[in-house]
Amino acid sequence: MSHISYDIVIVGGGSAGSALAASVKKRAPSLTIAIIEPSDKHYYQPAWTLVGAGEFDVNKTVRPMAEAIPDGITWLQAAVTEFQPTEKQVVTDKLGTIQYTQLVVAAGLKLNWEGIKGLTETLGKNGVTSNYRFDLAPYTWQLVQQLESGEAIFTQPPMPIKCAGAPQKALYLSCAEWQGKNRLGHIKASFYSSTPALFGVKEYVEPLMQYIRRYKVNLNLNSTLVEVDGPAKTAWFNVKDADGNVTRISKPFDLLHVVPPQTALDFLKQSPLVNADGWVEVDQHSLQHVRYPEVFGVGDCTSTPNAKTAAAARKQVVIAAENLLAQREGKALPSRYDGYGSCPLTVEKGKIILAEFGYGGKIVPTFPWDSTKPRRSAWLLKKYVLPWLYWNLMLKGREWLARCGACG
Ligand code: FAD
Repeated sequence: MSHISYDIVIVGGGSAGSALAASVKKRAPSLTIAIIEPSDKHYYQPAWTLVGAGEFDVNKTVRPMAEAIPDGITWLQAAVTEFQPTEKQVVTDKLGTIQYTQLVVAAGLKLNWEGIKGLTETLGKNGVTSNYRFDLAPYTWQLVQQLESGEAIFTQPPMPIKCAGAPQKALYLSCAEWQGKNRLGHIKASFYSSTPALFGVKEYVEPLMQYIRRYKVNLNLNSTLVEVDGPAKTAWFNVKDADGNVTRISKPFDLLHVVPPQTALDFLKQSPLVNADGWVEVDQHSLQHVRYPEVFGVGDCTSTPNAKTAAAARKQVVIAAENLLAQREGKALPSRYDGYGSCPLTVEKGKIILAEFGYGGKIVPTFPWDSTKPRRSAWLLKKYVLPWLYWNLMLKGREWLARCGACG
């Protein structure tokens, strides 16, 4: 068993973990920093929505992990299996025990495909797809192109999920494609969401409802996908009425776009670092753990009540980097995260409603514009600027757009 030690150990080399490593290294080049990350691939997940609409090359959403890990950071290719915060160490599956002075947890969340009966057997065939997987987003586009008529169903599971707008984005972009091809009269699109409202921030609901009407979408709220039979092309939903009574209904489909239920990762749920729901329990402003001061959390795995997005991670890493370094020196933590998250809602091909909001649903636009309006400029931002910014700035510790507006 090895007992390697680092100044800072980061668990997870995804969007938040890699960006944080870069931001800390820029500020304090002499620190020894390791990222523990089992995957040899790093994904830019926000573009998968565009892949599912034929607007982005899926191969441009993945790079070797070795390229995403910032310069000067040690990559330990292993999975953490256990946290021992009292001993300031983590246990891994392949590299033994790793010790730290400070720890950052950035392991993301679990896509619980098994949470819907029959789903795993039929994903990727029988017209069942999901933009939430690298290998399936191109299948979404294939299905959208092939469908000439019939029932197209899009689903959204209970919150929290990463990028809460992504289930709707798949719906609107598919409908836009069918409308452009004059097929919408023959294709009936339905949206089934577990949530009681179309979107969590009320200012965006009516602008989105305009698209629900434009595409003649059959909208069903409080409706949760629970079972799929791919070969029989049938989906079952639990529908909750105003009194809380639940009825099970079945619906036939020709195309089914599923967003899986999402939970905390199992290895985190079993650790001493989490709250009752399994999320890493950090202060929502400082991102410091509430019981272990040398532990911080960033990205989708934390208990902070923001929208779980890469945009949130972009802002959080700056806060966490500054607070980590202050904590090392025994100083008061200087930076506060205000809950910024962003959701570029692709309402039609070439236009986006760029929802940006902080804690409590407060709208915090980066640009001085009415963010409830669909815009071509926001589309160009998402399709061209943000992917470039991600690979070339965010993962390199260059904090453009990470400090402005909402973040203070
Ligand atoms: P991830 O990037 O998922 O990284 C977590 C890492 O932890 C992974 O590399 C994983 O291998 C690693 N890990 C897991 N278990 C262990 C372990 N045991 N030990 C060590 N490491 C481990 N965000 C936006 O801002 N805008 C959007 O438009 C947008 N659209 C999206 C559309 C889709 C379809 C999806 C799926 C996501 C979208 N997101 C969007 C969300 C965004 O991608 C995530 O919020 C972001 O990637 C979170 O970063 P993270 O580092 O917390 O998690």
